[in-house]
Amino acid sequence: MENQKVALLGLNLSQLERFAIENGESAFRGRQIYQWLYQRGVNSISDITVLPKVWRDSLMQKGFEVGALKEVNRFISNDRTIKLLLATDDGEIIETVGIPTRDRLTICVSSQIGCSMGCRFCATGKDGLQRSLKVNEIVAQIFAIKEAFEKRPSHVVFMGMGEPLLNINSVLSSINCLNKDIGIGQRRITVSTVGVSNTLAKLAGLGRDYLGSVQFTLAVSLHAPNQYLRERLIPSAKYYPIQSLLKDCRSYIALTGRRVSFEYILLGNLNDHIEHAEELADLISGFQSHVNLIAYNPIDEEDFQRPSTNRIKKFMHVLEARGIAVSIRASRGLDQNAACGQLRRLHT
Ligand code: SF4
Repeated sequence: MENQKVALLGLNLSQLERFAIENGESAFRGRQIYQWLYQRGVNSISDITVLPKVWRDSLMQKGFEVGALKEVNRFISNDRTIKLLLATDDGEIIETVGIPTRDRLTICVSSQIGCSMGCRFCATGKDGLQRSLKVNEIVAQIFAIKEAFEKRPSHVVFMGMGEPLLNINSVLSSINCLNKDIGIGQRRITVSTVGVSNTLAKLAGLGRDYLGSVQFTLAVSLHAPNQYLRERLIPSAKYYPIQSLLKDCRSYIALTGRRVSFEYILLGNLNDHIEHAEELADLISGFQSHVNLIAYNPIDEEDFQRPSTNRIKKFMHVLEARGIAVSIRASRGLDQNAACGQLRRLHT
């Protein structure tokens, strides 16, 4: 274990008690580590000054570490949104965003370094996937944003870099930690997926195993009202027809008792016509769902257009007239490359 790092972040109370015993101390020391990790948010074992110095040194010599991420850059927008570029132990860079509003602080976390899904409107997908994040690397993002805002995020959305369902075990394990160890209610956590075939039933089953019951929100990125258009925007959709995706959403709702929300990026003159809104309403009729409309944030690599506010409103009114709950997600941090993956691309 000389050079191999082992992170403590992500371990629960009983695991840390066992860890302390296995490393020559009493369970009480494990409880102290637990408190300093999750309540104080320490970045290094050497900062847990309540532990004997000799023991701290020996743990670090053995290769144990908190598992925090190093902040390499910070971008603050006019609207107070903060984007952090964080470095992992192996020198990779990820993005994490803190979005404050009057009554909440939402963190948009990454679940992978890069992404293999290749959605055309997304900067993250342009370089492919480097690797999935480990539990400590997901949880550490919460503490990085907590440090930046000097308060703990109240809401968590897995909408940063990566496809969470391709890193399902670490994502669920980190949700468990966020919920039970950090105290963020599951209902304040959203997992967003663009759709990976044969994973929604698995998510429901594993979610029960990890969390007891699945209470977080699942957001499914549709972005198109039909298979033809969806494939143009999301290449991976070729392997997962839109009707199969919706069938799996229905099963997921039956298995978990939770509503699914649908995400729809509006691209000017591409998927934002009135006919598309009508088609979308037909597609999801019968679902107890919520549609989030998101105006496209331009990236250099593609020449998609951001639609006008007028077009967005017209699209929304069609859905509302069909009895669908719909909201427009406000764009935040537009002056600081708001689209996911943009800052990391500029940095690397
Ligand atoms: S939108 Fe999400 S799933 Fe698609 S390429 Fe970007 S990070 Fe991956």
